[in-house]
Amino acid sequence: MMLKVKLAVLTAVVTAYIWRDTFDPESVRGARVLVTGASMGIGEQMAYHYARLGAQLIITARRESALQKVVERCVELGAQKALYVVGDMSDPADPERVLRQAVDLLGGLDYLVLNHIGNSPYGLWDRDVEYIRTLMQINYVSYVQMAATALPTLEQSGGAVVVVSSLLGKMTTPFAAAYASTKFALHGFFGTLQHELAMQGSNVSITISVLGLIDTPTALDKIRGFTNVTPYPASDAALHIIKAGATRQKESHFPWFHWFTCFFRDWFPYFRDICIQSSFTIPTH
Ligand code: NAP
Repeated sequence: MMLKVKLAVLTAVVTAYIWRDTFDPESVRGARVLVTGASMGIGEQMAYHYARLGAQLIITARRESALQKVVERCVELGAQKALYVVGDMSDPADPERVLRQAVDLLGGLDYLVLNHIGNSPYGLWDRDVEYIRTLMQINYVSYVQMAATALPTLEQSGGAVVVVSSLLGKMTTPFAAAYASTKFALHGFFGTLQHELAMQGSNVSITISVLGLIDTPTALDKIRGFTNVTPYPASDAALHIIKAGATRQKESHFPWFHWFTCFFRDWFPYFRDICIQSSFTIPTH
């Protein structure tokens, strides 16, 4: 019994040490940052946190009027620089154009934060292959294009690529076939790149942030009627991603307990799938 208590205490101490907050806000002051998908949701919240931390920011998305408002707020919050570049990631020419424009405006790049996603409503898969192709371009291929263009610049600055992913990039649930495919693809590509950069002694870090359900309007709207899973605040998720990138973590999890979700994922697949399927319902409408 005593041994069990000692083991539990040791595990708690080691866990607390490994997960201690090592983030230094000063490390982000003046950093040159490009955040994609920052006209709303988690990207918008990341822009505000980077602004409070005194970063130099470029944000991008499709809607100019929304970007303008976010930029104005970033200036109020203390950004050293806040500008926007309009771009549509479904256009194969835009990822490289936006990236190059951002590097020109900032005079280099320290953080490339890849966060945007195309419209991906929940629903049973309707056999629409063209939609999968389009979503792959927006959620996956454009990330690869931007990373490919940014790498030489990030090598000069010892910078970082931060990839915003989802629990649906680590395990499957019903109703999100297209979205989950794009997130799994991100883990395949950027996980491989992590190995290759490490083996080459590169000074560029790649962080993949795995998020659970977050309370952005689009997410809440799409899950309505499908599940009652509790969402977590977008502002907290945004700060978590920034800290994970700045501390050069390989994979981060928000909320924290999704580290355990991923860890135990394949231990009891039968019970896991019962659990997942009982958390969702097929809406009657
Ligand atoms: P969101 O609120 O839907 O925002 C998506 C952003 O992407 C918007 O700024 C949107 O702006 C932009 N966008 C959409 N289509 C685009 C296109 N074709 N080209 C360029 N930009 C485009 O998303 P979110 O909920 O904040 O999610 C942000 C990230 O967190 C995503 O990577 C998502 O997978 C991840 N995540 C979210 C949740 C969640 O529950 N919310 C959970 C896990 C992971 P415009 O319309 O102006 O283009």
